[in-house]
Amino acid sequence: MTPIPCPACGKECEVRPDKRGHPFLNCRDCGYNGVIARKEAVEKFKQRTGWKPDAPPPPAPKPADPPPEPKPTPEPTSWRERKAARERGQK
Ligand SMILES: [Zn+2]
Repeated sequence: MTPIPCPACGKECEVRPDKRGHPFLNCRDCGYNGVIARKEAVEKFKQRTGWKPDAPPPPAPKPADPPPEPKPTPEPTSWRERKAARERGQK
């Protein structure tokens, strides 16, 4: 956790990454809550304070696709061969 002075009371603020990875300030002393919303501001904030999101939240898991149904593997050569063999046999 990076110590950041609270903009409201000046005491040490807790900074956590929000779900987008933006710095979310939470002051335990005065109850100040604030998030740095703009990307450029987040970069500035990082440069100025050296703050890094400790654990970037993992991307939302995608709904798993249903497993593809196993298709019966056609064996064209074999039926062609069989057909050819049948035709050869008939002639
Ligand atoms: Zn405060």
